[in-house]
Amino acid sequence: MQARGKLGSALLAASTALLGCQRVSQEDLAARQRLLQHVRQLAQEIGPRPTGSPAEARAREYILRNLEEAGLAASEEPVHETRISETTDLVADSANVVGILQGGTPGAILVGAHHDSRNAHCPGASDDASGVAVLLETARRMAGRPHRHSLVFATFTGEETLGLPGSREFIANWKGPPLSAAITMDFVGTGKVFVAPFPTAPGLWASRLLAGAEARAKTGRVLFDPWLVIVPRVLPLPYGADHASFLEAGIPALNLSCQFPAWTYHTSQDTASRVDPETLFASLELVSSMVGILDEGSGSPPEVEARAEYLPLPMGGRVWFVPGPMLRGAGAIVIFLAGWQLFRQRRELWHGGSWGEAIWVLLMSIPFTALAVSGGFAMEWMLGYLAGVRHAWAAHPTSHLAGGLVAMLATFWVSTGAFRFVRPSIRSGPYLTMAVLLQVALAGGLAALRRHDIAFGFWLGAAGMLAASFCISASRRLAWGILGVVWILPILSATAYRMFLELSGASLPAFALEGIVLVVALPWFLFIEHLLCLPQVLLDRRPPRFWSLAVGGCLLAVTLGAALLNASRASYDSNHRAVVEVGESVDMTQRRVEATFSSPESLRVVRASGWNPAPLPDVLWTQLSIAWERIQTPDLQVEYDEELGETVLRLHGSVPGLPRMASLTIRGSRPFEVMRGGAWESTQRYRRVNLPSSGVIHQEIRLRRPEGEHLEYEGEVSTDDDLLGLNPTASFREFKFSSKVRLSGRIP
Ligand SMILES: [Zn+2]
Repeated sequence: MQARGKLGSALLAASTALLGCQRVSQEDLAARQRLLQHVRQLAQEIGPRPTGSPAEARAREYILRNLEEAGLAASEEPVHETRISETTDLVADSANVVGILQGGTPGAILVGAHHDSRNAHCPGASDDASGVAVLLETARRMAGRPHRHSLVFATFTGEETLGLPGSREFIANWKGPPLSAAITMDFVGTGKVFVAPFPTAPGLWASRLLAGAEARAKTGRVLFDPWLVIVPRVLPLPYGADHASFLEAGIPALNLSCQFPAWTYHTSQDTASRVDPETLFASLELVSSMVGILDEGSGSPPEVEARAEYLPLPMGGRVWFVPGPMLRGAGAIVIFLAGWQLFRQRRELWHGGSWGEAIWVLLMSIPFTALAVSGGFAMEWMLGYLAGVRHAWAAHPTSHLAGGLVAMLATFWVSTGAFRFVRPSIRSGPYLTMAVLLQVALAGGLAALRRHDIAFGFWLGAAGMLAASFCISASRRLAWGILGVVWILPILSATAYRMFLELSGASLPAFALEGIVLVVALPWFLFIEHLLCLPQVLLDRRPPRFWSLAVGGCLLAVTLGAALLNASRASYDSNHRAVVEVGESVDMTQRRVEATFSSPESLRVVRASGWNPAPLPDVLWTQLSIAWERIQTPDLQVEYDEELGETVLRLHGSVPGLPRMASLTIRGSRPFEVMRGGAWESTQRYRRVNLPSSGVIHQEIRLRRPEGEHLEYEGEVSTDDDLLGLNPTASFREFKFSSKVRLSGRIP
C-alpha cells in the first residue's frame, strides 16, 4: 500500500510535470496529494457515511480537524429538526461543520459541499467527498492569502435527495456577517467542471465568474455548453445541490458540478479510485480564483447579471456569452437584409409561376434531405441492433457522433448526387428563396415561443443565406453560408445529450431526434442546391469534384472503418454500465406487493433470480405483482395514544435491510395543530421525516385535533435495499433499489 502510494505520487508528479505547460510548484504538488488523501480518507477509510450515521460523525471530525489545522476557527453546528417545506419537517441526528476566516470588509463569501453520502452502500467519493476535499484545500490556501471579506467554509449534512436540511439549517441559524455569495460543489471528481444547470439554468454572473476564474487558472477543465443553459429552461431537472437553499434565501449562489459516469451516481461504484486528481486540482484552482474575484470586488455578483438572458457559445478555445438583447435582436438583421433583397428582386417575386416552382423545389427536397441525413441514424441503429442495445453510443458518445457524421456525409453524397438527375429547377433563385423562408419561419416560430436562445442560431443561418444572396461568386456565397451555420458546432455535444438523458430520466419520443435533424437540415440542403444551380457551377464542364466516384469510395471506406471501430467497442462493460432502477413496494394495509424495473436498455438480460429464474421481458419497463404470502411481512406498526387532549401518533418497528427514511404523514378535512420545533402550529397536512441511525424505526407526531375530527395517516419506510429479496442479476448492469413499505389508516 505504502509502495503503491509512493509510486502513485511519483507517477502523478511525472505526469503533471509532462502535461502541465506551467511549472508545477512544490506547493501545488502537495495540494494535489492532499486532495486525493481527503477523498480516500472520506470515501475509503471512513467509507459510506449516510446522514446521521456514526461514519458521518467520523467524517465531520476529520473535516473539523483539517479546518482547524489550516488555521480556521471551526465548529460543528447541530442539525436536528429542519423545516424542508411548509408542511414537512426532517429529523436527523447530525451536524454541519463550519470554519471561518474573518475579514475586515462587511459581507461573507461562502464555500460549501455536503459531507454525507447517499446510503450505507455508497462510498460517495465523487458525491461529495470530492467537493469536501476541494473545500478543505481552498480553506488552507485562502488562510495563507490576504482577503478582504470574511470567508466561510461549510460542509453540510443531508445530501440532495433529502431536501438539503444541512444548508437550510445553516442559513436559518447563520449569525455571522451577511452572506454576499455562495459557491457550493457537488461532484467535482471527474471530467470537466461546469456551473450546474439544476434546478435552474446557470445565471450569467455565475458563468462569467467561472470564465473569469478559468482565464486566471487556465485549467482546460471547464465546460461551457449551450445545452447547460438551453435544456433547464425547457426541462426542469428534479435536483438541486446545496446552492438551491441559498438561492431560495435570496443569496446569489452557484454550484460547481462535473461530467461523471451516471451509473456511479448513488451506487457502490462511486469509489475513490474513479476520482481524477486533475479534476480535483482544477476545481481547487477554479474555486480559489472565484473566491478571489468576488473578494476583490464587492463580494457579491452584479445584480443585473442574476436573471439576464444569455447563451454561452464556446468557440476557438474561449467562450462568448451572447447577451439577451443580441439574442432577441438577431432577427432585425435578417428583416433588414430580407427587405433589401425583396426590394431588389421585386419584379421576379411578383411572378406567380416562380412561386409554384419554388414550392415544387421544396417538396422535392424533403425526401432527399431525409436521405442525406439518414446515414448517421442508420449506422447507430445498425450498431445497436448488432450489439443488442438501444443506446450503442452511450459509452463512447464522441466517437459515435464522429462515426454518425461521417456516415451522414456518405448519404449526403448519395442524396445530392442523385438529386442532380431529378433537379426540379435549374434556376438558383427558388432554392434560395425557400431556404431563407424556411429558416426565417423556424427562427420566427421559436422567437414567438419566446425561445430566443434557440432561435438565435436560426436567425444567424438566415442572415448568412441572405448575405450570400448579395454576392455574385459561388465561393463567396459558400463562405457566407458557412458563417451562417458555424454556430451548430458548439451545439453538437453528444456528452451533454447523454448527461441530460441520464439525469432527467426523460427520453425523446420515437423519431423526434430524426425529425429535428431533418427540419434543421432542410434549409441547408436547399441552400447547397442553390449554390449548385448557380450558372457558373452549372455551366462548368466538369461537375464539382465532390461527386466523383473516388470521393464516394473514400466516404464509404471511412464510414465502414468508423462502423467497425465503434462496433468493436462494447457499449456496456465494467467501465460503463446501464442502470436498472428497481422499485419495490409493500402496501401493508392493502396487502399488495409490487416491483417495477426500468432501464434505458432492454430488461431481457435481467433475471430477478430470487423471484423467478426466467429473464424479464424485452421491454424498458415492467411490473411484477407478488403474492402477499410469498414475502416476509415487515414488522411495522402505527399506534396512537390520547392523553390530556393531545394525540400522539407513533410509527415503529423494523424492515428488512437498512431503513433510509421513515415518515409519518397526517391529513385532516379541517385544520388541526401539530407540534413543530417546540411550538403548536395549525395545518391541514403535515409530514415528519426521520433518518433512523440504526435498523430500529421510531417516529412520532404530537397533535391536537378539533372535537370529533377524524384524521387520515400514512406511515412509510424507505430503504435503498432489495426489500423483497428479488436478487436481480445481469452482467454490466448497475441496480439501484428504492423500496418502500407503507401502511395507512385513520384516527377515529
Ligand atoms: Zn451530492
